[in-house]
Amino acid sequence: MKALVFAEKADHLNRISSKLKELGFEVHALSFAEVNADFLYLAGPKYDYASITAAIDMLSNEIRPDLVVFSSTKLGKEVSSRFAQRKNMTCITECLDLQLGDSSITVSRYSLGGKTVTKIRTHLPAVVALVADAIESKEQSFQMNVREFQIPDSPQIRTVSREEKRREAVGLKEADVIVVVGRGLRKEEDLKLVKELAKKLNAEIGCTRPLSHDYRWLPEERMIGLSGEKVSPKLLISIGVSGQIQHAVGIMNSKTVIAINTDENAPMKEHSDYFIVGDLYEILPELIKNL
Ligand SMILES: Cc1cc2nc3c(=O)[nH]c(=O)nc-3n(C[C@H](O)[C@H](O)[C@H](O)COP(=O)(O)OP(=O)(O)OC[C@H]3O[C@@H](n4cnc5c(N)ncnc54)[C@H](O)[C@@H]3O)c2cc1C
Repeated sequence: MKALVFAEKADHLNRISSKLKELGFEVHALSFAEVNADFLYLAGPKYDYASITAAIDMLSNEIRPDLVVFSSTKLGKEVSSRFAQRKNMTCITECLDLQLGDSSITVSRYSLGGKTVTKIRTHLPAVVALVADAIESKEQSFQMNVREFQIPDSPQIRTVSREEKRREAVGLKEADVIVVVGRGLRKEEDLKLVKELAKKLNAEIGCTRPLSHDYRWLPEERMIGLSGEKVSPKLLISIGVSGQIQHAVGIMNSKTVIAINTDENAPMKEHSDYFIVGDLYEILPELIKNL
């Protein structure tokens, strides 16, 4: 059985390669860096989906893989679906695990907004995109045949320049205390209340999707939930957050959760140990004063 893998990050590729090797695949990897593989196609970096799709298409015509695997990043998901469509193959993205059956694979992925994990079996050949961070990397031995590979230029896309996205160093994953803020906050200036509270508690600040992605009051790295960070602090204080499941899956491993919400029926009640029904604009100043 042969697998063809692509990931733009070396760490993701190594994790996926080790998983595929463990399952008994001969691993062919298209990579921008030296990674573990039986057959490594080493290429200069390119990040546009059209060029990568064309490259994977070329390699798959040569290798005839049983399984084509991507890292479930933005680029990986884009390329996996485009490639699968070209080849008329099944494509499953955001897979958390992968098992091999008799000319089939079974993958696990979240469904119902993260409330359940679904197992899906599909016949081979197939295309999957794996969440690399969910894969445990075990030592494997590879043949390590290396070949230089030229990724073709896309006729549709011309890269004019490339800039790294500015990222804020956020320690949400390691934080013992996190203050999470949601759309209960009326104005961006009011973040100063939240920052004051966080300072008193030596806490990191997290937020819901509307604050980072719609209003852009806080950087994306601070969003907690299904499409953001999954956190596990000792104490999490949730302020003006409704507690929709897509957010709540990100806080489920917190030890103690205190929520402040004006709506006594907010779903956040189900996800908290202490639920304070009240206005954050009255409670936060009192809390800060008393702390
Ligand atoms: C595929 C998908 C993925 C998603 N992923 C994420 C994700 O990773 N993370 C995420 O956060 N969201 C995610 N979402 C969005 C999610 O479904 C919710 O829309 C979002 O979490 C709601 O944010 P919120 O609680 O801040 O806002 P709202 O739902 O508007 O809630 C605001 C809350 O504030 C309360 N409130 C209002 N005024 C006050 C006050 N003065 N004092 C106290 N409380 C007050 C209200 O009662 C209300 O409960 C995703 C959605 C989809 C479809």
